[in-house]
Amino acid sequence: MKLPPALRRYTHWIGFTAILIPLLVLLALQYRSLARLDQTSALVHKAGLNNLLEAVAKEVDYFYRDNAEHLLDLPASVFTQGQISKAASHFKKKGVEGVKHLFVESLLNDDGPLYFYSSCASFQPPPWSPELRAVYVASSPWKFLAHKGGPVERVRLTVEEKDSNNRILLYPITDDSSKLVGLAGMVLDEDYFRAHVLPEAVNRSLATFDSGELAPIVSVQDAKGRIVYTTGSLRGRTAEVEKPFSLVFTDWTISLASRHATPAVVARRNFRLNVGLSTALATVLLGGVLLALRTASREMKLSRMKNEFVSNVSHELRTPLASIRVFAEFLRLGRVDAPEKAREYGEYIETESRRLSQLINNILDFASIESGRKTYHFERCDVREVVCETLKTFGVRLRQNGFNIHLEGADTPLPPARIDPGAIAQSLSNLLDNAVKYSNGKTDVTVSLRRDGDWIVVSVIDQGIGIPRDEQRKIFDRFHRVSTGLVHDVKGSGLGLSIVRHIVDAHRGRVTVESRPGEGSTFSIHLPVEPPESSALAPQAETRERPSEA
Ligand code: ADP
Repeated sequence: MKLPPALRRYTHWIGFTAILIPLLVLLALQYRSLARLDQTSALVHKAGLNNLLEAVAKEVDYFYRDNAEHLLDLPASVFTQGQISKAASHFKKKGVEGVKHLFVESLLNDDGPLYFYSSCASFQPPPWSPELRAVYVASSPWKFLAHKGGPVERVRLTVEEKDSNNRILLYPITDDSSKLVGLAGMVLDEDYFRAHVLPEAVNRSLATFDSGELAPIVSVQDAKGRIVYTTGSLRGRTAEVEKPFSLVFTDWTISLASRHATPAVVARRNFRLNVGLSTALATVLLGGVLLALRTASREMKLSRMKNEFVSNVSHELRTPLASIRVFAEFLRLGRVDAPEKAREYGEYIETESRRLSQLINNILDFASIESGRKTYHFERCDVREVVCETLKTFGVRLRQNGFNIHLEGADTPLPPARIDPGAIAQSLSNLLDNAVKYSNGKTDVTVSLRRDGDWIVVSVIDQGIGIPRDEQRKIFDRFHRVSTGLVHDVKGSGLGLSIVRHIVDAHRGRVTVESRPGEGSTFSIHLPVEPPESSALAPQAETRERPSEA
């Protein structure tokens, strides 16, 4: 799909916005759902704690119900056939656990015998002892029912806890015709409950409860509010959920408190963590997108510059070639009679050929610098000689264009330097070429030579169009051309200064520019003076440039 040209400039921002908006919407939606989750997770956690309480209570119920049904379900024959004394062997066979006393009572007559067993051994509690009284209270309703006679519809385990020291589980025994014949019961051992039943029930329930970092503290309080069992210190903590036991010890309460943090705190912490993670992810994503957009934008700029380069270079090649052809034709057709004219045309041809060579050299150099194949042949040289030589070859063109060239500091003695004379001459030519190209009609160009500490400085000074401050760093980048002001009218490849910088860098020197728009520019090449000890080095050395970075 082709975008309208007005929009094409903003493709990156359109793409960025296209990613940013859905991302923000996603973040907002996620924030909302996390906020909801924050509210519900506290409730869910509380429900989880309630389930744990339920599980502990059920374990306790199960222990006593199972124990009672197991132990107390005596055959009716024990009462109907007068074998009540056999109950002891029944209890022994089944194994007694968690029980203070067991008892059986016959209901076959109004005042049936009552037997007490402690650890399966029969014993007679003293009259009016609390356990005897508790048994009487528990058995009275059944005695009344037995006295009434007739079948009992549903027989089930009953609990009597009026005396909290003698809690009783009672199991009524019926014969084949559902007639009550006796009672079997147990007086519960509170110490056993505390020491064995509770810890086992709690541990079993905790093992199946995924408490995570909350690891709740389970505690049990008796009817007077005393802590009778706990899995951790309760200091400074309040119970989050509590519940009484349901079958026995119903006046006792079991409660849970979070060990490290309340569910609300954990939920909030999770909420913050999730929001933080999402924001971090979104930031990374946006960062990546921005980076990709930046790279794409750079690539686009580079490709635009390359296109401009091709068109500029074609123009640069075509113009001198056309002049050369015309002057050569004049000469060939013998249309030039005057020897001065012939010499002038010859000079034109020579100058244009030099320009062509310089351009082609620049392109070839750029190619070899880019691919890392550029080599330098360093030798001990007098920089002044190289400068004078370059000015001599450049002079013709300058003169043709009406330029005056001044050489300053030609008499100042300069120390030798290790340079590649050809490369330095090429750098200077590029600077001179620019001074001419961007002269804006100001025909004075100065080349200055001086020593500045450990540096030999060659400067090319013009009074041309100058360079805006913010462009001064960029002009040394390949293909970069100032796109404002008068430079529009001048064709160029955008390679000259980048090659100068490469060459000067290879000499461990630096190139600087001072310029003011409308007033002119000074480009200076700083080359290190050859240290005295290195004079002994071999006169020639070849170095290979690293490939330039993209
Ligand atoms: P070009 O082939 O365009 O001259 P250069 O790399 O030599 O390429 O120069 C890069 C840009 O720097 C030029 O396009 C021009 O805008 C600016 N520039 C270079 N030298 C001068 C100068 N002496 N005066 C003004 N602008 C200059």
